[in-house]
Amino acid sequence: MTSQRTRERLLGRLLEQGIKSMEVLDIMRSTPRHIFLDEALAHRAYEDVALPIGHNQTISQPYIVARMTEACVMGGKLDKVLEIGTGSGYQTAILASLAKKVYTIERIKPLLDKAKKKLKLLKLRNIDYKHDDGTLGWEEKAPFDAILTTAAPQTVPNELLRQLADGGRLVIPVGGEGQQKLKLITKKDEEFREDVLNLVRFVPLLKGQLHR
Ligand code: SAH
Repeated sequence: MTSQRTRERLLGRLLEQGIKSMEVLDIMRSTPRHIFLDEALAHRAYEDVALPIGHNQTISQPYIVARMTEACVMGGKLDKVLEIGTGSGYQTAILASLAKKVYTIERIKPLLDKAKKKLKLLKLRNIDYKHDDGTLGWEEKAPFDAILTTAAPQTVPNELLRQLADGGRLVIPVGGEGQQKLKLITKKDEEFREDVLNLVRFVPLLKGQLHR
């Protein structure tokens, strides 16, 4: 069903679209995406598209996962990563294969529980999970070499900038509903450099009340 050929085709597409990190491409080749989808959608897992995962949320498009991961990896060491918006857990799996330790936060409990099961299935044990509002980051575990946000706030939360290590990278879609700018913000000597990587379409980063 999810033949090796369709998976290779996806890899070709990522290369074509400019993903250069061999490390990232190798991890994307070896990480199954279909297990993070409901059975009815699993046959579409290796198409380069975002797909629904329930609760009005989506699993990110593979190209965007690769692009965000590459931005985290290429900028320097990647011992400690914070991910905001666990969702299906697919991006978490990619990060956990590259970083020493991943901290991931999700506000919808059923999604977090499901993601946890899938990541255990893949025997990825270097992940700490938290059911919470990720807007405030994860203070006790900071500083992070990279923070990756897979839902879009209107403006960059200051807390996240504060929780970056020196040399740390924040990869985050910023803007209102509809289209956002995917930004790479690098912290060096308390100064921030900002690059725009892509135009993207993410679900909004919601503040406040949690979904249990
Ligand atoms: N990387 C995920 C993307 C999921 S979509 C994947 O590929 O599957 C974005 C996720 O961010 C959703 O699951 C949504 O519930 C979550 N989210 C939105 N606002 C949040 C917040 N304030 N804190 C934590 N998670 C949040």
